[in-house]
Amino acid sequence: MSDVTTPRFRSVLDRFVAYKPGKVVVSPDGRSFKLSSNESPHGPLPSVLEAIGEAARSVNRYPDNNATALIDAIAGHCGVPADHVAVGCGSVGVSQMLLEAVAEPGAEIVYAWRSFEAYPLLVALSGATSVQVPLREETHDLTAMAGAISERTRLIFVCNPNNPTGTVVGRAEIEAFLDRVPEDCLVVLDEAYREYVRDDEVPDGLELYGDRPNLVILRTFSKAYGLAGLRIGYLVAHPLVAGAIRKTFLPFSVNAVAQAAGIASLAATDELLARVEGTVKERDRVRGALLADGWTVPPTEANFVWLRLGERTMEFSEACDAQGVSVRPFPGEGARVSIGSPEENDAFLAVARAFPHRG
Ligand SMILES: *Cc1c(COP(=O)(O)O)cnc(C)c1O
Repeated sequence: MSDVTTPRFRSVLDRFVAYKPGKVVVSPDGRSFKLSSNESPHGPLPSVLEAIGEAARSVNRYPDNNATALIDAIAGHCGVPADHVAVGCGSVGVSQMLLEAVAEPGAEIVYAWRSFEAYPLLVALSGATSVQVPLREETHDLTAMAGAISERTRLIFVCNPNNPTGTVVGRAEIEAFLDRVPEDCLVVLDEAYREYVRDDEVPDGLELYGDRPNLVILRTFSKAYGLAGLRIGYLVAHPLVAGAIRKTFLPFSVNAVAQAAGIASLAATDELLARVEGTVKERDRVRGALLADGWTVPPTEANFVWLRLGERTMEFSEACDAQGVSVRPFPGEGARVSIGSPEENDAFLAVARAFPHRG
């Protein structure tokens, strides 16, 4: 097929490898644990399943393109007016909407690295240029990030807690950073893991954006709310910003089943947050056990732990695969391991314990 002439594609596509779905790994005794995508280990609540089933009866109809009932429910949940909210197809979709609104060739988008894998992809697709600022001690270096701002900078992602390291930046640091960002440059505080945070020093973005029209708070239903498969994310920002971003919405891209499930999930917040509490306890147990075994694990406020394995990352990931535990390796850097059920976490800890990592 190599002599086939294809249409001319954008050269940026040459930089991407085709998406490889995570493979299912199975242990010799038939166990398979997926700790690679930071999902909730729990299936949907009965009340959410019922809403999904009810909404499924009407999928011959287009969804509400304004997602009015969902946006009202999110606004009520966050204690903000509805015109401060915009929704999208996952928070990845909302991130793409944000870039649609501000990015163009010549524009620069600043973010920490390593951070969320979607950022470089979305920035490249937007035609803008990524400016990656190395983590310092596995944590956002907000001083260096402020120093990386130029007159071409249009948007800055701050992922708090950071994926994949789990580390956080505190209120005073974030406020000092925001004070240094020009008012015409957006700051997107990606709080995908907000519900797992227990450190009081970490601000809730919703308390910060009020007097800062350039600050956008990004949230998702994919993690604590357990709806990764249905794709709903949202932002909260000044109404002029939320209104501008809504204009970039791909029509109907938050589907009717997702809208109904999102509303039902917000109605079940107490039950869902009780599940999160269990994950937080497991997170602290898993990190404690790893530390006791001599591993170095950055403090994590998310539903995963980070092991900086360097050149041994793939060896470790293969050792996990062999026991039916799939983790997320970043070759040459480290592995991110999601917190699952106690049984899943024990399976991971057994592999970690048997892995020769010291010295
Ligand atoms: C998982 C994750 C998201 C969620 O993405 P969705 O598109 O909402 O599923 C967003 N940001 C970060 C940093 C994440 O790790």
